[in-house]
Amino acid sequence: MVKVTNAYAGDGSYPTSYYAASRNIIRTPVRLEGRIEADICVVGAGYTGLATAIHLAEKGYRVTVVEGAQVGWGASGRNGGQIVNGLNASLSTIERRFGEGAARFIGGLVQEGGRIIRRLVKAYRIDCDLKPGNIYAAYTAAHMKELEAKQALWRRYGMDDHQLLDREALQNLVDSEAYCGGMLDTTGGHIHPLNLVLGEARAFESLGGVIYEMSPVTRVDHAAVRPTVYTERGEVCARIVVLCGNAYLGDAVPALVSRVMPVSTQMIATAPLGEALAHSLIPSDMCVEDVRYILDYFRLSADKRMIFGGGTVYGGTDPADVAAKLRPNLERVFPRLKGVKIDYAWSGNFALSFTRVPQMGRIGSNTYFAHGYSGHGVTGSHLFGRTLAEAIDGDTSRFDVFEKLPWYPFPGGRMFRAQYSTIGSWWYMFKDAVGL
Ligand SMILES: Cc1cc2nc3c(=O)[nH]c(=O)nc-3n(C[C@H](O)[C@H](O)[C@H](O)COP(=O)(O)OP(=O)(O)OC[C@H]3O[C@@H](n4cnc5c(N)ncnc54)[C@H](O)[C@@H]3O)c2cc1C
Repeated sequence: MVKVTNAYAGDGSYPTSYYAASRNIIRTPVRLEGRIEADICVVGAGYTGLATAIHLAEKGYRVTVVEGAQVGWGASGRNGGQIVNGLNASLSTIERRFGEGAARFIGGLVQEGGRIIRRLVKAYRIDCDLKPGNIYAAYTAAHMKELEAKQALWRRYGMDDHQLLDREALQNLVDSEAYCGGMLDTTGGHIHPLNLVLGEARAFESLGGVIYEMSPVTRVDHAAVRPTVYTERGEVCARIVVLCGNAYLGDAVPALVSRVMPVSTQMIATAPLGEALAHSLIPSDMCVEDVRYILDYFRLSADKRMIFGGGTVYGGTDPADVAAKLRPNLERVFPRLKGVKIDYAWSGNFALSFTRVPQMGRIGSNTYFAHGYSGHGVTGSHLFGRTLAEAIDGDTSRFDVFEKLPWYPFPGGRMFRAQYSTIGSWWYMFKDAVGL
């Protein structure tokens, strides 16, 4: 049995954000009390946990989800809402690090997460402002070369959905002088992330699934026969436990602590800009991310605010003033928004893995886990949820490939990994700054 501490601050209420303020489902949290039996117990009600739970419930399993705060309280309810195909690590990096076989396998499924989201939205009528298309924006000729290489590589792996954009073509889609070109992926898109995860929770419950909220898991017993998760006031004894706490799991499961590092990234939402200004800034209404190491990512909300994210803090702490940190980046991309009112500013943690490739695996025979999407997890979490569900249902073919991929702890150990990673990132920030 393992004693754990929990990373929650406050009472588990949603942090103040545009998403929390505009959520379209208000839940009444039910806490876990007493002892419950289940086929499967999933820890964490973000995309990974709920995608796993839905796919299992659709196959007829009796699934209980235990969430420490509220549905979508973690990264899934705070993110940029950008449906970007692929993992954080590019296919070329995967090819270099893990070989062509792994790259071919991953290349075959990097668009699946987006398809899962679209299927869930349609099948369960989830109201989350789903829109098509994402744009990669390039600042320099070197960035354009990167995008050309990406297009060529994805073509080699059978995906021909990327269209290169010169400066003028890009500006027809995003009216910013900052970029020299870009690339369009019509199979990407964007969503209101909290409304997606809340809709997924409702879909899961419509299949008979049960969710307990405000119930942080404090101990996990990975017993081979019936693993058990414990909260302050209750416990779930299951045939299988699935750990989907990602960056917020903290020390809960010592075996996972050195696999990923929490990293915070920040977001702001402006006041509504009005239809005309909003449309003139992003006529395509697609989401945009640039191709730098520490990147900006932005899109319009349904009520025409600019939702703008960027910046990372290794170790997962928050900067003192998120709005002050992001405003200059916003105004550099859109000088017309100089001085615009910022209504909301917030921050959230994603889980970074050393290779930028997410991980899934098993602790003992009956405790599964998945995490480490490294900031690109809207699609990956859905793909991994489905893959975990397949494995639990007996088809481990895809799970096995991911489980076998080597992973590496961060240099510097628990104490110094954030500092080491910050120093490592300076090289990439220097490259970004000089346009390499
Ligand atoms: C600000 C921000 C912007 C981002 N933007 C994008 C983007 O635009 N596109 C993209 O692809 N990715 C983006 N990401 C990453 C993406 O949001 C995540 O990869 C994804 O949501 C991970 O989902 P998850 O379910 O694994 O983790 P989470 O959503 O973090 O869910 C984990 C859940 O587990 C719960 N939990 C943890 N520990 C316990 C415990 N002990 N007991 C019970 N419950 C527990 C937490 O409360 C939480 O609800 C962003 C992330 C952040 C933070």
